[in-house]
Amino acid sequence: MGSFKEFASRQKEGFLKGAYLSDFNREEAEIENILKSRKARRRELFLKKIPLLFLHRDEILHNPDYANIKVDFVFDKPYGFPSGIPCEISLSDLLLLWDSEKFKSICDCGGVAVLTSFAGSPLTGSYTAHCSCSRCGFAFTVGRHQDTRKLNAPVRWVELLKMLSNAARVSAEKKASPVQIEALLEELEIKSSVGCA
Ligand SMILES: [Zn+2]
Repeated sequence: MGSFKEFASRQKEGFLKGAYLSDFNREEAEIENILKSRKARRRELFLKKIPLLFLHRDEILHNPDYANIKVDFVFDKPYGFPSGIPCEISLSDLLLLWDSEKFKSICDCGGVAVLTSFAGSPLTGSYTAHCSCSRCGFAFTVGRHQDTRKLNAPVRWVELLKMLSNAARVSAEKKASPVQIEALLEELEIKSSVGCA
């Protein structure tokens, strides 16, 4: 029986040809690709359903099964995000973050739009942010020179980053809900249609 040190040195010397390991590595790459495309699909679905989430905002905040769903697909970990915490905000903490004027803009329809991603510069403090309307679902950007729309309160990139990381810190303390976001959205749609009937 060799020690782990000997094993590691055999690996380093290329003694192991990776006969079986290559299968494992291929599977890992496939899993990573699937998770990446799931994240993109979930984000697209979620952004489309922001008006639905706002209709049921209070219900979500008061039901831990809904409130504690991790929505790790909304914000792509921005540059400068603390490495010690996952960028996995819970649905209720996201809704509370959206209460801040710094995470809001006004849509052409007059509805409140909320910030759904941002990127920027630590040097200049400038940023570009994507927003989605909570009334009509329209998506637009703010922060570029040619954009006339702005966030409702003046803010610098580092402040957005701090608010997002604080929310993620709070979320990390909570046990994630076993409910999938897809199930919640379907349930809310059914409730809305029953309510309208
Ligand atoms: Zn709108």
